[in-house]
Amino acid sequence: MLKKLLIAFSMPLIAFSLMAITVTASSHPITGAAAANQQPMVVRIYYATSAQLSALRRTIDVWAVYPDRGGVDALVWPDQYVLLLAQGYRVEIDRDRTTQLNRPAQYLPGQTNGIPGYPCYRTVEETYATAQSIVSAHPDLAQWINIGDSWEKSAAGGNPGYDLMVLKLTNQTISGPKPKFFSMSSVHAREYTPAELNTRFAEYLINNYGSDPDVTWLLDYNEVHLLLQANPDGRKKAETGLSWRKNTNENYCGATSNSRGADLNRNYPFFWNSCAPGDGCSSGSQCDLTYRGPSAASEPETQAVVNYVRAQYPDLRADDLSAAAPITTSGLFMDLHSYSELVLWSWGFTSAAAPNGTALQTLGRKFAYFNNYTPQQAVGLYPADGTTDDFAYGDLGVPAYTFELGTNFFQACSTFENTIVPNNLPALLYGLKALRRPYQNPAGPDTLSVSVTPTTTLAGMTITLTAVANDTRYRSGAGEPTQNIAAARYAIDVPSWVAGAVTYPLSAADGAFNTPIESLQAALNSSSVGAGRHIIFVESQDASGNWGPPTAAFVWITTAGKYLYLPIMMRGT
Ligand SMILES: [Zn+2]
Repeated sequence: MLKKLLIAFSMPLIAFSLMAITVTASSHPITGAAAANQQPMVVRIYYATSAQLSALRRTIDVWAVYPDRGGVDALVWPDQYVLLLAQGYRVEIDRDRTTQLNRPAQYLPGQTNGIPGYPCYRTVEETYATAQSIVSAHPDLAQWINIGDSWEKSAAGGNPGYDLMVLKLTNQTISGPKPKFFSMSSVHAREYTPAELNTRFAEYLINNYGSDPDVTWLLDYNEVHLLLQANPDGRKKAETGLSWRKNTNENYCGATSNSRGADLNRNYPFFWNSCAPGDGCSSGSQCDLTYRGPSAASEPETQAVVNYVRAQYPDLRADDLSAAAPITTSGLFMDLHSYSELVLWSWGFTSAAAPNGTALQTLGRKFAYFNNYTPQQAVGLYPADGTTDDFAYGDLGVPAYTFELGTNFFQACSTFENTIVPNNLPALLYGLKALRRPYQNPAGPDTLSVSVTPTTTLAGMTITLTAVANDTRYRSGAGEPTQNIAAARYAIDVPSWVAGAVTYPLSAADGAFNTPIESLQAALNSSSVGAGRHIIFVESQDASGNWGPPTAAFVWITTAGKYLYLPIMMRGT
């Protein structure tokens, strides 16, 4: 370890040690148990220049970057710690997280499920069992699709490995083609929260289908494809408490090394290994955490995702850096990671804006309205090449995003349950709502608080429809332009874009559309609507002509029967 590090550090650190005269040595002596036991430590390292940041990212395990504070969170071994101090870096040991990192993975008292010490995170096997039980209980809504092998499964001998499995959700009784939402999670094995959030998203959709009007139409008219465990071999390592990021490919860095494997989020084929060597986008050294693999899409996990995603989405973009996908493109590609509280979009390997950059930014700022993360082009934090989202957007033109969830890899369950899930499920649901026009709908207003009064009524009676149009819901301070509301409309039983749909206007409750937030109303005569449950889709438009996605409500129409009885009785008294 030390020899390798000295080689790795000597060139860049000597080169910029003269520039580092303003950084001070840590006041923390190396007296902790972790240092004495040759155990890794979690530290905050302060850097002064972008060259230093690049050097840190190339040579140590940087977990998160905080440009506003000029610091990184990182895992370092005692010899690295000594070297950093010798080079003049200010390094602070995070004692709580160092203790957490080195604590043996142990079940909590009474814990019978989940990752040891973290009962909120399902294991690979438990995640697969959840998906299979969803399919068994809802065969009309859910399918469990084998899309390829993990490295261990593809390699002869050794561990049995895993199939990579996609949970596909859609109402199969309504025919397509339908816009497709693809979300993969925990391709970096040690990132506990993403796989569980993706699984909770599946459960939310299944549990609310038929009772929540929005979830109902979202699964009627869209397909949701969830690769819940994108790196199951690596995940089994991380479930033991190891800070494992890559796959477990034994051909890289030695068959038994805990530093082996390829970084699957540097292995994707679009502009793979395209950065200059000094940029730190990915590494050619097998033991490094960002080892990109020997060739583009060399890893079976990458090949499975690439083949599956290419089969789902049409190719709507030339494979250069300047051709825009049509603004009418449908679908969305999501890659859920942790951590850093970020919403990221292409490009990640160059500071040039993506040709659909403005539209990507608008949806990014919309996502960030819900999870309150920082929305930015992926390269803004640090450059990376061979990533999943640059492949999906670059190769196919489908809008692609990376979420960096939360504040830790081994995130406390209380934070996951109380913050990450409630803030990110609405973001994922919004993505699903905008799935048909993700480059257009996010610029338009949200339609909220859709309500029908009464919810159950006799055919022929008038129904009052109310809602609120709001064009201002973007990440606060992000600078997204907003406009006044200009119009609103509703459709009954099918969304406005379905052939044969008829739309009717809603008016401004105060008489004029002249503000970015407007209350809406309409009187709906139910005589033309047949008996039974109906779904009403309400959409709003802003003064720039952008329609937002619809929000729905149910209404029940009855014919003569028990509801006729009540007015007659009242008349009699
Ligand atoms: Zn990650």
